[in-house]
Amino acid sequence: MNCLFCKIVEGSIPSTAVYQDELCYAFADIHPQAPVHVLIVPRQHMDSMASAGKDHGALLGHLLWAAAEIARAKGLARGYRAVLNTGPDGGQTVDHLHVHLLGGRSLSWPPG
Ligand code: 5GP
Ligand code: ZN
Repeated sequence: MNCLFCKIVEGSIPSTAVYQDELCYAFADIHPQAPVHVLIVPRQHMDSMASAGKDHGALLGHLLWAAAEIARAKGLARGYRAVLNTGPDGGQTVDHLHVHLLGGRSLSWPPG
């Protein structure tokens, strides 16, 4: 499969690792939108949240737990945002599910 984030997970495309375990890999976004901008992806390919079934609940929860762990490690005590862009209207540009962890500045709402 010709998937950018699968290649990053397997290491054939380089990335700056932030956290990893048996289920997920987290790395620095190449175009950071905040002082902390980390992408957390499942090691196993999954297009997006739109294809999530009930069996994916534990994995999706694990990704959010990993985001919280990374936020604690990065000292984001003032808060942060975790985002899953999904599909064309959601602004998803890479079709391998990923959680954006954004922090280190005050983030506006609503998003564009
Ligand atoms: P999306 O728009 O799908 O929600 O987010 C995709 C993210 O992947 C973007 O924030 C973009 O900057 C990031 N990205 C795209 N290509 C690469 C890459 O080759 N390496 C890294 N580290 N991030 C990438
Ligand atoms: Zn993939």
